[in-house]
Amino acid sequence: MNDAGRAALERARGRLDQLDLYPRPVRLQGVRVVVARWWFRLPMMRRFDGWASHRVIVLRRSIDPSGASDDLLTHELCHVWQMQHHPLRMPLSYLLGGYWENRFEVEARAAAAAETRVQLSRNGDPA
Ligand SMILES: [Zn+2]
Repeated sequence: MNDAGRAALERARGRLDQLDLYPRPVRLQGVRVVVARWWFRLPMMRRFDGWASHRVIVLRRSIDPSGASDDLLTHELCHVWQMQHHPLRMPLSYLLGGYWENRFEVEARAAAAAETRVQLSRNGDPA
């Protein structure tokens, strides 16, 4: 993982640290970000731009050093955080309960959106 990837991961952690979702903060130790376009050519992956396992976040595109990919990375790192607390229940929930309404998916979307609103209001823009 390059410096831009490490910096983006740190920014994502900083955003998640603002949220009180789990008892322990997200740990970055052993977490890697890889860019693999081929992964998203797989039939089940075509509609996604990111995917997370317990320790690896796979992105369709390179990390944008300007921060444009931070929402996506925050979303995926939230999934890593969820799996650090629910290593079996979280991934199984997608197999058993589907994607869009899944409580972990809803939570990750909210986590990525929440800090964006805080940043917007901090900058004086409408939230
Ligand atoms: Zn997700």
